This record gives sequence, structure tokens and C-alpha cells, in this order.
Amino acid sequence: MSVYIVGAGPGDPELITVKGQNLLRQADVIIYAGSLVNPALLEVAKTGSAIYNSATMTLDEVIAVIEQADKEGKLVVRLHTGDPAIYGAIQEQLDCLKTKNIAVTIVPGVSSFLATAAALKQEYTLPGVSQTVIITRLEGRTPVPDKEKLAALAAHEATMCIFLSVHLLENVVAELIAGGYAPDTPVAIVQKASWPEQKILRGRLTTIAQIVAAEKIDRTAMIVVGKVLDSDYDLSCLYSPNFAHMYRDVKK
Ligand code: SAH
Repeated sequence: MSVYIVGAGPGDPELITVKGQNLLRQADVIIYAGSLVNPALLEVAKTGSAIYNSATMTLDEVIAVIEQADKEGKLVVRLHTGDPAIYGAIQEQLDCLKTKNIAVTIVPGVSSFLATAAALKQEYTLPGVSQTVIITRLEGRTPVPDKEKLAALAAHEATMCIFLSVHLLENVVAELIAGGYAPDTPVAIVQKASWPEQKILRGRLTTIAQIVAAEKIDRTAMIVVGKVLDSDYDLSCLYSPNFAHMYRDVKK
């Protein structure tokens, strides 16, 4: 039997994949990241399943639970918020399970930066404005390599989705401006995208820190920065009558 690392999606229990939800229904053991995963997702778990909140556990404890369950032939789901590949701290779990010869399958999920775009009703990649999305974070207890410091990334003036940093918003703003974004660059903050209590705040680099402080938002929020949020753009070639592609000729 395999251990499944499953992306829970951003919060809304309907934003987990069908595959992920099927696994949750069948799981004998579920270990979920309680600090961010919406507990409503666990309502589909079968009666008698053992449910652990990893927020109170160490890596060794998580691995011990997985190892024991795997030995007993049980189906284990390790549920991570959003997509496990983004700030999911899964690599150390994967490496540890590999040394123990425990097979792992990963089921991707909807990352919160995409639920944020949906909440904002916003495309991140507007032609003529930005064709690049940078996923990053401000340095916290986890160090960020020098070449990836916010100020260095800001030089691209691309669309940026900044995780794990809303509690340090003033530092984020200072680095972005120092790095090259114009001070009036639009910013949107989405807290708990796709949850019932979702909140959207909009401003400019110069105003957003004050707006966010007034709303007392200091966690579980995405910072989106870039001209796409407020900008004219070129129409997409994809739907243009003058643009032929694999499925369509130029329209006369
Ligand atoms: N793997 C997750 C990210 C985990 S790091 C993913 O793919 O989304 C945790 C950070 O993700 C939070 O600090 C916040 O910046 C962001 N986040 C998680 N859920 C969110 C949500 N529903 N709305 C906005 N930001 C969210």
C-alpha cells in the first residue's frame, strides 16, 4: 500500500481534487496540517479512521505514525494545504520515507496563489504587461538565497505572489520599492482565499501597509503585486482572428 501526500487545496472543501477526496474517504490514517487545512475537508473521512493534526507533531512523530500504519497495511493520507510542492516541507518527509522503503504517491492540489487569482478575478499573465509570475516569500526564520531577495526579484517588475509574508508587509514594500517597482504599483491582499471568511484588500505599494494594519490581517494571506492588477493590456493572440494556430486558420 502506498502513502499518499495530498494537496488539500486553498480551503474550500470542494477545491480538493476528485482523486484527493477519494483517498480521504478511503484513508485509515489521515495526518493533516492543522494550522492551514480547513477541517471541513475531513468530514468525508470514514468512521474509525485515525486523524492526526501535524501542527502539534515533530517530523519524527509524523514519520513514526506513517511507518506504523504502513506496516499494518493501512492507507495513509498526509494532507497538506494548497499544493504540497509550494512551501510544503515535504522533501524531508519524502527523503525519510525513501530510506525506509515506504512508497509514496503525490496528488497535487490547487495552490492558494491560484485561489487568490480566482478571488481577484484576475489573470496574472497579461500580454504586454507581464508574462511571468514569481512565487516567493520574504526571508523569515527560513533563509532566502541572496540572489532571490525580494529587491532582486523586483527588478523584473513581473507579477509577484508573495507567500508567508503579510505579517512583515512594511518590509515587503520597502524591498519591492528599493528593487525597482514604482511606488504606485498596485497591490492586492487576499486573506483566506476560497474560505467563507475570505477578505480582499487593494491598494498601492505606498498605501497597502496602512490598509492592512487597519484590518489587522497578519496571517494566511497572499500578497499580489504587479501592474496586471491595474493596467491596459494587449488582447491575447489566442482568440485574435489574425492569429492561426493548430486548431484554427486565420479568419478572412
Ligand atoms: N502549499 C501552500 C502554501 C503553504 S505556505 C499552497 O500551495 O498554497 C502558507 C502560506 O500560504 C500562507 O502564509 C499564505 O501566504 C498562503 N496561503 C495559504 N492558504 C491561503 C489562502 N486560502 N488564502 C491566501 N493565502 C493562503
